[in-house]
Amino acid sequence: MTTSTIDGVRSAIASRQTTATGLAQEFYTRIRREDPEIGAFLTLCEERALAQAGRIDRMAAAGEALPPLAGVPVAIKDVMVTRGVRTTAGSKILDNFIPPYDCTAVARLEAAGAVILGKLNCDEFAMGSSTENSAYGAVHNPRDKSRVPGGSSGGSAAAVAAEMAVATLGSDTGGSIRQPASFCGVVGLKPTYGRVSRYGLIAFASSLDHIGPFAKTVKDVALVLGTIAGRDPMDSTSAEVPVPDYVAELEKPVRSSGEALKVGVAKEYFGSGLDPEVRAAVEAAIQKLAELGCEIVQVSLPHTEYAIPAYYIVATAEASSNLARYDGVRYGFRAKASNLSEMYRLSRDGGFGIEVKRRIMLGTYALSAGYYDAYYLKAQKVRTLLTRDFDEAFKKVDVIAAPTCPTPAFRLGEKVNDPLAMYLADIYTVTANLAGIPGISVPCGENHEKLPIGLQLFARHFDEATLLRVAHAYEQARNT
Ligand code: GLN
Repeated sequence: MTTSTIDGVRSAIASRQTTATGLAQEFYTRIRREDPEIGAFLTLCEERALAQAGRIDRMAAAGEALPPLAGVPVAIKDVMVTRGVRTTAGSKILDNFIPPYDCTAVARLEAAGAVILGKLNCDEFAMGSSTENSAYGAVHNPRDKSRVPGGSSGGSAAAVAAEMAVATLGSDTGGSIRQPASFCGVVGLKPTYGRVSRYGLIAFASSLDHIGPFAKTVKDVALVLGTIAGRDPMDSTSAEVPVPDYVAELEKPVRSSGEALKVGVAKEYFGSGLDPEVRAAVEAAIQKLAELGCEIVQVSLPHTEYAIPAYYIVATAEASSNLARYDGVRYGFRAKASNLSEMYRLSRDGGFGIEVKRRIMLGTYALSAGYYDAYYLKAQKVRTLLTRDFDEAFKKVDVIAAPTCPTPAFRLGEKVNDPLAMYLADIYTVTANLAGIPGISVPCGENHEKLPIGLQLFARHFDEATLLRVAHAYEQARNT
């Protein structure tokens, strides 16, 4: 029996084929065997995991009803704080940081019975598209170890792909869940802004940051989303919108009694720069959706070409402000110095990596007097136009289908010295963050080198149910 899905774990535990403790130990054995070549984990929290597994096993032995994620081995991107467990955000500046509280999403997973195995490698402060910006070494793509897993949640995608966790959490500010999901051949979902509390997520760009799940199947992603979603009094931007039973929604057909879901296709997502094999795989996936009974409708998202510049202004501006708190006084790394201002300077200089410094400088520049109107204000206006594009499109269609990334996984080292080329890897994903709409990446094929390709779907604000339903229908059809 497979324990690579939540249902598999559930029935293995229910049938006493294994225990939560046995399963956690099995996963740790696999991590110790596989991870030295992948680099997905930064910290293992075995004590916490085995205490939780023991609780689940005692409940099972007493014949108590088990919570929905009982015994499911999960792992968390190291940008979410965990009580008593080192949390680095992939940065040297937080090297010795032990948070005193849990991120809400992490606490909700644990309350639902999940067993947290450890913390996952990522680009420093989630800034990057390849996980090569981590202060703790790059992550290797389990599908081809000479290639990047994507980023910034590269560890989260790689851990699921290598079956070192059944589900993981990542964060997505401009594509950091969907792009690595696509590169590693797993499912990754970025929910609507406000759907999942950001309490305890180390901030990169607060108006763009989202927490979301990775797993092998759409159903597992739906289960995890249902667990972590919903209003949290600790995050004033978390929305008071009811959370549907996502798993029940999956079973609804995409076409019933002549009523078909409408799938939009926008030419702006199929322009130059799109790898021909990615294009062919995504077009075939859209064809599959048509065969399932969806109606395919052309839509237009005319401001898409301005998304990357707008994103890199807004994201760096917010980052420059958020990262001001790392001053050597309150958290982590402190340099030795002879006076206070030198201590600030040397701590930040020694604690932050090169990409983080680049972004702090870019963001500070964009916000400075005399440039604010030209850059930051302009970018905010573009953001409104992009959001309106989606609003117009969603008057005509229920979901929009596109590639997740213009290419499959690139080689380690290939883009590290070319930040602009790296930024362009996000061309199809940043739009959903700017507009706050939900997006998912589902595997839709492989190129001639057997590298995974992802189909991306977008939906209206708070309509993850329809997004998951279409993704699930596609996944089922592709697997049969
Ligand atoms: N690659 C994008 C960036 O570097 C997105 C990162 C993210 O989503 N966290 O900003």
